Amino acid sequence: MIARRQFLTAAALTPALASFPARAADDHARPFDAPYAPVLSQPSREIRTVVGLRPYRPSGFRLEHEKFGRRDVIHNYGHGGCGVTLSWGCAQLAVELAASIDRKRAAVIGAGVNGLTTALLLLRRGYEVSVYGAALPPYTTSNIAGAYWHPTTLYDGRDAISDNFARQFVRAARIAQRKFQHLANDPAYGVYYMRYLGLREEPPLKERTPYLEGDDLYAGLAVETAPEKYFGYGYVERHHAIMIDPDIYLRALMRAVENAGGRIVRKSFETAGDVFDLKEKLIFNCTGLGAKALFGDEAMEPARGQLTMLLPQPEVDYGYVSASPETGLLYMFPRKSSILLGGSVDHGDWSLEPRETERLRMLAGHAQVAQRIVESQKS
Ligand SMILES: Cc1cc2nc3c(=O)[nH]c(=O)nc-3n(C[C@H](O)[C@H](O)[C@H](O)COP(=O)(O)OP(=O)(O)OC[C@H]3O[C@@H](n4cnc5c(N)ncnc54)[C@H](O)[C@@H]3O)c2cc1C
Repeated sequence: MIARRQFLTAAALTPALASFPARAADDHARPFDAPYAPVLSQPSREIRTVVGLRPYRPSGFRLEHEKFGRRDVIHNYGHGGCGVTLSWGCAQLAVELAASIDRKRAAVIGAGVNGLTTALLLLRRGYEVSVYGAALPPYTTSNIAGAYWHPTTLYDGRDAISDNFARQFVRAARIAQRKFQHLANDPAYGVYYMRYLGLREEPPLKERTPYLEGDDLYAGLAVETAPEKYFGYGYVERHHAIMIDPDIYLRALMRAVENAGGRIVRKSFETAGDVFDLKEKLIFNCTGLGAKALFGDEAMEPARGQLTMLLPQPEVDYGYVSASPETGLLYMFPRKSSILLGGSVDHGDWSLEPRETERLRMLAGHAQVAQRIVESQKS
């Protein structure tokens, strides 16, 4: 049970917002020493709570060509907690895998971010493309994503991945990041910059290692260890991050595919055999978690995540991930249409039902972070 006191405290933060100008969500790139507006994390501001299942694969995504008799299947699935992040890069690699196959008509199975992006790149290369999805946006997992540009929650650590995967991963991350840079601040796509803070009470036991994909992808990356700088947290990794608002973004991708001549069809397949009944012999498998049942990939597992959306606060122009023994893992990202509160990653958990304990943990935990922000900026 969450103490009532915590929400009253959050309500008392409202006057602190008066000094923050409202900023459009596509206008975020303020310096790190500019003030931070507190999030009003209270049940009375809640819009909805939702659950999504990240399509997790312990050895990383699968980007591979497989022959089934006369059919060519290009797999592009299993992107865990960063399928939006990697989408342009993985789509590019998937299309390259098909370059030597002498076919110009393709079926893309899956209408999430990876299916639609793959379809778009194929269309731009002159393919005739049909996209088939059991669910179409806004009802895909991709619509639930944060979506903070960060290739993370993707594999079980360096020992679990092959060198080939590491190469694909680094290349995909770099291609995708560059592509999103070009889309940033285009209101049609809902891609924008924000200040990002990774907040921890203490420095990690191990020394920080550079990102596998390269530290240069994170503008203004720095580590701060002076607690007075960031709300009393003793270890803060910060950078300017790219955010993707999936509601706006998926809609724009659908339009782009259709404008390029692609066909999007709602259709579910029970077995791989059903897929092979399609007239297209070149097939891109972008079914996310669905690949477990459809193509028998037993390694695939859900990494469940629950999110609570609050009413929007245009003055909040930063996001954070915080980890503390008291509140656990939490993250907050601002969007035009909402403030997103998250912080759960439950491996192997298939439940799509929101959990009340988790909802209350997040509301109270984020209220505590907001209170620290206000207290530390008082002087
Ligand atoms: C809470 C949460 C937070 C997240 N945060 C982020 C983030 O900050 N950044 C980020 O990059 N990513 C994030 N993700 C991960 C991201 O959502 C996924 O990696 C991404 O959506 C995977 O996209 P996809 O296109 O591969 O799969 P999906 O979006 O799941 O699409 C799969 C498509 O395949 C179709 N399909 C499946 N099986 C069949 C079948 N048998 N027949 C026909 N069609 C089928 C589905 O209907 C759907 O159209 C988050 C996910 C969750 C749940």
